[in-house]
Formats: sequence, structure tokens, C-alpha cells
Amino acid sequence: MPRKSKPQQQAGDTYAKLRVLHPDAHCELDHKTAFELLVATVLSAQTTDVLVNKTTPKLFARWPDARSLAAASVEDVSAVLRERLGMYNQKAKNIVGLAKKLVAEHGGEVPQTLDELIELPGVGRKTANVVLGVIWDKPEGVVVDTHVQRLAQRLGWTKESKPEGIEKALCGLFPREDWAMLSHTLIFHGRRVCFARKPACAACGINEACPCAFKAENVGRKPPRKRLPIVP
Ligand code: SF4
Repeated sequence: MPRKSKPQQQAGDTYAKLRVLHPDAHCELDHKTAFELLVATVLSAQTTDVLVNKTTPKLFARWPDARSLAAASVEDVSAVLRERLGMYNQKAKNIVGLAKKLVAEHGGEVPQTLDELIELPGVGRKTANVVLGVIWDKPEGVVVDTHVQRLAQRLGWTKESKPEGIEKALCGLFPREDWAMLSHTLIFHGRRVCFARKPACAACGINEACPCAFKAENVGRKPPRKRLPIVP
């Protein structure tokens, strides 16, 4: 096994502490099957896991698998989604479309490769890696959401600001077997301690290892939206 570089060693030490702080870290999208996780992850774009988890019980009670969802009308699915989610028409179109493709090309099952998953409507690299990591523990990369993005920057693991660059940096710092759990752990820490606006540095169990401790407010946050000037 190749020797770890100093940055790999330091990042690994901090990650080990985070694992101790969040031993129960896991994917917080409720699901019982690969199909349910795939659909829930597609629905989670631009919204919270909490709202998705309030939506999917009704959705899966009516359409529990790819075959039933493939036969549903987009309008009926959209009507269920719109109770809690935005972009409901597009999301309904995507999940019915992906169910049809699962039935037509994969016998109604969720495929187990990145290349096949990203061919499904509404499924990008991030969604595919959630499913590959959570269901089969074989992700092809690190899932970089807003929390992972912020934490990776605050912990000094990358200077990149775009998800692709951050993913590449994290894949270089951590061994493949850590990739899936790394995301869950960072997301847990981001949701419970290292908040975007007011990180709880005083209560943070890794503040001694964090280069941004007590000065992180403006690190890793999205730039404020520019207001367009009002034209009279
Ligand atoms: S010390 Fe502060 S900025 Fe660093 S990880 Fe902890 S909460 Fe986040």
C-alpha cells in the first residue's frame, strides 16, 4: 500500500475524529429499496430531505416499484409531488421517465453501474453515486452536496469551489472505501454543527484541527445573489 502524503494523513486523522462524533451518519432519505432511493434522490434536487421524506410515503404507497410508476400518468404523479415539492412537473416527468426506462432496459431493476444510471432521466453523477454508495457500497466518486462543499473548504481539504473540483480533491485525499461514508459524515456535521451561516465552532469536536475555526462564517458559502438594478 503506498505511503500516505501529509495532506492525506491530516485529512484522514480529522475524518477519523468526525466518524467518532457521528457514528450514526447515514443517508437521511427514507427508502426500503434501491428503486425508492433512486426516486427519492431525484426528488431531492433543490429541496430538503425532510420534505422529500414527507412526500415519498404517499408516492410509494401508490406506485411502489418501477413497473407501477412506469404505468402512471405524469399528471397524477405531479399532483402528489406538488403538495410539498417545487419543480413538481419536471420531477414527475423525470421519475415516470426513469421508471419507463428501468422497465424497458433493465427488467424493472435499478442498474449497478454509473454509466447506466446516468442514462436515466433526472439522474446525474451525484444521484448515481448516492445509489451506488448507499445500496451497493461501490461509489465511483464522492457525493458533493452543499454541506460537503462547505466542509471540504472550511477544513482546508481543497481550494476548489465547484463540485467537480471538490470531488476530485476528496477522491485524491481519501481511499475509495471511505468515499460513501465520508459524504454522509460531512453532511451530518454540516447539518448539526458546521452550519452555513453560524458554525458552532465552540462546540465542534474538531475545532483544534480546523483551519477555519472561529472565522468560518464566510468560507464555503454561496455568494449572495446580486440584486438587479431597478430600471425606471
Ligand atoms: S471548527 Fe467551526 S468551521 Fe471548523 S468544522 Fe468545526 S464548526 Fe466548522
